[in-house]
Amino acid sequence: MDTIYEDMRDGLDLDAIRRGGEILKKGGLVAFPTETVYGLGGNALDAEASAKIYAAKGRPSDNPLIVHIADWDAIEAITEGLPPAAKLLADAFWPGPLTMILNKSELVPRATTGGLATVAIRMPSHPIARALIRAAGGYIAAPSANTSGRPSTTRASHVVEDLSGKIDMIIDGGDADIGLESTIIDLTEEVPTVLRPGYISLEMLRGVLGSVELDRGLIAADSKIRPKAPGMKYRHYAPKAELIIVEGPAERVREKINSLVHEQLARGRKAGVIGTDESLLYYKEGDVRSVGTREDEITIAQHLFGLLREFDESDIAVIYSESFETPQMGQAIMNRLIKAAGHQIIQV
Ligand code: AMP
Ligand code: MG
Repeated sequence: MDTIYEDMRDGLDLDAIRRGGEILKKGGLVAFPTETVYGLGGNALDAEASAKIYAAKGRPSDNPLIVHIADWDAIEAITEGLPPAAKLLADAFWPGPLTMILNKSELVPRATTGGLATVAIRMPSHPIARALIRAAGGYIAAPSANTSGRPSTTRASHVVEDLSGKIDMIIDGGDADIGLESTIIDLTEEVPTVLRPGYISLEMLRGVLGSVELDRGLIAADSKIRPKAPGMKYRHYAPKAELIIVEGPAERVREKINSLVHEQLARGRKAGVIGTDESLLYYKEGDVRSVGTREDEITIAQHLFGLLREFDESDIAVIYSESFETPQMGQAIMNRLIKAAGHQIIQV
């Protein structure tokens, strides 16, 4: 299949949006930018379109898709028994990087929800995403636009790398602002529960709803406790190289990473380091790269997935990463990094 590339880095192209909307209405797939990561879109109300999304990504079919809407009024038709908490959260955080799990209506096929009776819904703020959703009839199912298991895509070139030839259109909207996927909150539980941390933190959600819990599967050291979001159990984001996180006081982390890199080089293996602008000059050897600055945590979120992809282009055998427990997004950043590392963490 030929994949059409539409460049909208300089702004909305309404003709191309209309063409993208037509492709989606006919059951085709369009990748598009959102403020979190790039999404691989298909008509959420069309079971066959959802099946195509799973096929293009190589995604396990029990891993449900998020339905994207552009207007609050669109939510009624796809849910049953909407709780008041949904409107409160929408008023506070929509459009934006928050996904709510709600009971689904008949209109949403099980192919979209991975067989579940609930549906994940988000209203993105990105103008290209909003225009495309409206042009497509109001409901776009869109997981991250990456091959399943690889880091999510935060720029169009990543999408081209993973999905070119497999989908109908890729819309380039430049680099994603946030760089990590949305926060997911489950409103079908007695106490609203965060299933995936993101830019909207637990504290921000508690500020609106009062009590909010964190899914036990996310914090449990016991790997037998399954996370409630089906997608959270899969190995994800993994670079080709082995990735190991070193955690502890900054100075000891840098010493430990320097000695680990030295050992690897002595054994004839190439080693990489993930640090920040503040720490780069402390590392003497290896392929040292900065993920961002600790002065502005969003820069770390923005570049994490792209940096993991960059390492895939080299023949590095092992990457050592600092850990990033930053104030608002630390939980989300570390959740992705720990998954990418397959839970390999060295404490110093
Ligand atoms: P992605 O679209 O690639 O960011 O992944 C979507 C995430 O949302 C996955 O971790 C899914 O398991 C999760 N998700 C989607 N729908 C539901 C649902 N109905 N219940 C629980 N988790 C969901
Ligand atoms: Mg994903």
